[in-house]
Formats: sequence, structure tokens, C-alpha cells
Amino acid sequence: MTIYLKDATFIDWQSFEISRTNLAVESGPGAGISLSGNIPGTENLGAEDRIIDCKGKFVTKSFACGHHHIYSTLARGMPAPRTIPTNFSEILEYVWWHIDKRLDLEMIEASALASAIYCVKNGVTFVIDHHASPFAIEGSLETIANAFDRVGISHMLCYEMSDRDGAEVREQGLAETDTFLSSGRAGHVGLHASFTVGEKLLADSIVLAKKHQTGLHIHVAEDKADQKHAEANFGKRVVERLSDAGALELNKSIFGHCIHLSPNELQLLQNSGVWVVQNVESNQNNNVGVAGYGEIADRTMLGTDGMHCDMLRSAKAAFLVGQATEGIGFDTIYERFRNVHHYIRSTGTAGDADNNLVILDYDPPTDLTRDNFLGHFVYGIDARHVESVISMGRLLVEDRKITTVDEKEVLTQARAMGRKLWDKL
Ligand SMILES: [Zn+2]
Repeated sequence: MTIYLKDATFIDWQSFEISRTNLAVESGPGAGISLSGNIPGTENLGAEDRIIDCKGKFVTKSFACGHHHIYSTLARGMPAPRTIPTNFSEILEYVWWHIDKRLDLEMIEASALASAIYCVKNGVTFVIDHHASPFAIEGSLETIANAFDRVGISHMLCYEMSDRDGAEVREQGLAETDTFLSSGRAGHVGLHASFTVGEKLLADSIVLAKKHQTGLHIHVAEDKADQKHAEANFGKRVVERLSDAGALELNKSIFGHCIHLSPNELQLLQNSGVWVVQNVESNQNNNVGVAGYGEIADRTMLGTDGMHCDMLRSAKAAFLVGQATEGIGFDTIYERFRNVHHYIRSTGTAGDADNNLVILDYDPPTDLTRDNFLGHFVYGIDARHVESVISMGRLLVEDRKITTVDEKEVLTQARAMGRKLWDKL
């Protein structure tokens, strides 16, 4: 199957070179695109081939999310917690751990489908997710994977293991991770954070990650409480603990947040191949502080932390926060926004090749050129300009409508699942 994008204005996502051209987009996980060339006449089109008129539209590589939590989908608009949290630990205890313990597979499926629709309508065609549902662990990752597959977006998933709910739940998390990764699905060995992960679980996780040739996906020093706990219980700081356990030797590892790090921890990260993911809106929402990431610039990417599904919004938020923390420039925030593609490629995971594209209906008030593209990226282009989206050469969103699933049906089911969840809170 080939999708022909006729008269497109193509922006190369790495060089910003702009070409007015026809594009042929081949389908399949590793397939590519070719620029220019003629559009075949209707008599020469394959049965499934499509021609999309892109006159006046910009086309560029679609987006990817470095850290998401689909399990937060049904939290939107939920009743206030019985006790109002006053710090980060209480936010986890009274809000997130209260919710995730009540999730079942039906709710997880609805959350994943709704979240996947929001992602793809925002131009996001690859999601790295971190999932928690301590009393519905078995089958949770395959449920999410199937939902993402139905919508048509690619993924790396993990189950967020911890010791907060006892040994049985911990062992279920290890079993689910092993089963999921053994099935050939792409993902990580997920851990919540140092302060909820005991020595045995950490050691078991490293063994499991090595078995499946992947890395850990863990929240690191999101709040100062994580560091206090590590110092009090292990006599070292979080990254030092992870380093001593062997996590920094796993180059596919993703460390979320990394806000409260000492110079030694930064040095350890710099000397490793581990990737870091920045989620500034979540950090502001939880009032845990914000950090600069200049020391690990080449391996810092952006996520949403489950706050929303819009990576253009994450980039703009990180740009604004970055003015105070590190005097960030247009080029750096764009690199950080796009680093996730380098990460995905480094893991050898399929689904993020050149045939993942967004068609933008962006009608700027000033010229957009190779030299000023980044100004348009930071101050102009946002999710409402995403008109159509192609993932692995498949048209998932056409004229702002999802083609693969019935959006209305999915959201109706999600609302029913939301009510079911809220009744249990
Ligand atoms: Zn997170």
C-alpha cells in the first residue's frame, strides 16, 4: 500500500530543509518515503493506494512520547481525594495509589484506547508507557499493547513494579514483565521509584532486564523525598544506588525526572548510556521543583507523565521552564523533543521509521523557511494544526478524524469505566 501526498511542503525533521514535492509513503514497520516523483494515474493505483491533496499543508515526521501513564486517563474530573495531599508523597498515596489499586482490565483497555486516540490526534505515533494497576497486573501490558495496536500507534510498555503492596503483588509484576517481554513485545522492566523498591526487587529487575536485553524504566529523584529515603535506608543517593545495582550499564534504561541530583549523580549519568526524560508540567503540578538537563543533553527526551497526550505542548512547556533553569534555546528544545526518535532507534524497536508523518494545516502569518522553522515550532505550530497522521504508512487520522476505531464508542465506554472507577474510590 502506498499513500501519495500530493503537492506537500515537506520539512525534513533533522535538516529543516523544505521541499515542495509529492511524497510516496510506503506501508510497514520499517518502510520509508520517497520525495518527488509523479503521482500515478487512477488506473495505475493499487486497490489500497491513496492520494491525499496536501496543497498548502506542511508535512514532517510525527512525534513520540518518552514517558506516559495511560492509567491516569480516567482520573480527569474525578472527585477530590478524601484527604487533600500537602506534599508529593501524599499526592501518590491519596490520589494515584488510590486510583491504580482500583483499576481492572476493562478500565485499563478503555484508558489505553482513549489515550491512544488523543495521542494520535495530536500527531504522536509512538508511546513509551509506564503502567500501574497492582490488583489487575496479569495481562495488563498485553491489554494496553492490543489497544495501541487497534488504534495503530507503536509502543514500548512496562509494568511499574514496587514493594508498596507486598511480596505477592511484587512477584506478579515480575511475572507480567517476563511474560510480556518473552512474547516478543518491546518494552522495559518498569519500577516505580527507588523509595518503593527494595533491594531484592531491584536486583531481580536487573536480572530480568539483562535476560530480555532491555533497560529499566523508573522515576528518579522526582521529589527530594526519594533522595532522603535512599540516604536513610541505603546510605547513598538514588542514582548511586541504581549504579551500584548495575542499572547504569543498561543503555536502554529510562530515568524519569532526575530533578534532585548531586554533582556525583550527574557525573554518573553523564558517564553512562542511560536516557533521561523531562516532564515539566507534571513537576509543576506536583510542586516538586524543576531541573536543567544540559549535562545529559544528548540523552534527554520529553514526556507527558500522563498529564496529557500532546508532545508539542510538552515541548513548549519545557521551553518556557527552561528559560529560568538553563537559558534554553529553540534548537535545544527541538533536539530534546526529537531525541526520543534516536532513543527508539538505539533500542532497535520498530514503528518509528520515516513513514510516520503528520500533515499540518498551518497557515502562518509570516514566512516559514529553513532558517526560521524553529521559531514557528516554538511559537506557532501546535496540536490544533495536526490535520492528518500517518503511522507506519497507514493513515490513522484523516481530516482530524480517527480512521481505525470508532472514537465516539471508545469515549462512551471510557466514561462508563470512569464512573465505575469513581464509584470505587
Ligand atoms: Zn511518571
